[in-house]
Amino acid sequence: MANKRSRRKKISKFYCPHCGDRLWRVGTGKHYLYYQGREEVQDHFKLTKKTATLLVKQNIVQLDRQHWLEEFLCEEHGKMWLNIWKHADGTIETTLANRHHWKRSSRTIDPTKPNPSVSEFTYRMSRKSARI
Ligand SMILES: [Zn+2]
Repeated sequence: MANKRSRRKKISKFYCPHCGDRLWRVGTGKHYLYYQGREEVQDHFKLTKKTATLLVKQNIVQLDRQHWLEEFLCEEHGKMWLNIWKHADGTIETTLANRHHWKRSSRTIDPTKPNPSVSEFTYRMSRKSARI
């Protein structure tokens, strides 16, 4: 007998941090996190001090493609933003997005503190970004 389980597609599922129910994508897209400043860049991407200093000098904003904010819907708790971190081995870690994450996300604004000029600024910055 064939094992149906092995043929299942690998789809990332997300669960509500409050009740554990399956969450549904709202469809507002992924908002990647970026890092600026020598220490942040060095720490986050595990670079040498020399490489990090060079990148920062070139004024390159570093986007982390494995780390983003995304909006989800729980039938019980409504809409929420999650901070999603995809590890190298494919496992996914999620937490509720906090102020710290909002500060680093691209093309988004903190919903608790609307400020269109910040959004415009991060959008322009993100266009200049480069991958390592
Ligand atoms: Zn819930």
